[in-house]
Amino acid sequence: MSAETPGVPVAEDLFEQGADGVGLIGTRCAGCGAHYFPVSLSCRNPVCDDKRTVRTTLGRTGTLYSWTVQHYRPPALYRADEWEPYAVGLVEVPEGLRVLAKLIGRDTDALEVGMPVRLVTSPLYTDADGRRVDTYAYEITGDGIGAGGGSGSPGPASSTDGPRA
Ligand SMILES: [Zn+2]
Repeated sequence: MSAETPGVPVAEDLFEQGADGVGLIGTRCAGCGAHYFPVSLSCRNPVCDDKRTVRTTLGRTGTLYSWTVQHYRPPALYRADEWEPYAVGLVEVPEGLRVLAKLIGRDTDALEVGMPVRLVTSPLYTDADGRRVDTYAYEITGDGIGAGGGSGSPGPASSTDGPRA
């Protein structure tokens, strides 16, 4: 099967692939505009009087907020034909929330806070009917803010502030 062929989503109501790319399926509060992913049946904003939510797509792009590296294969329920350690990122999306997802497109030791990302599909396994089953992932599309810290940007604390040995 070609990699161009759309796969089957690993779960319903998680993400969708349209003409303008991959989007996460979430909800937006009709009252206060808060976004939720995964789908939330009610707004959880304590100061919001209107709890009605409507379905929307979100998170097509974002920036890397933080990440960790998954070094062991997750237990049952997780299924993948091929597995190797991968990065799990916390991505800030324009709709005002942070989304956890697998990161692809860079080595795990080359990740930087602030890297721009875009939502893509990532193959997990081939099911009994020979269909490729996909999940969503964020692909790194550019460089981050760097660890060195230019003028005015957050960087490592000055060594003169460290504990006195
Ligand atoms: Zn609300």
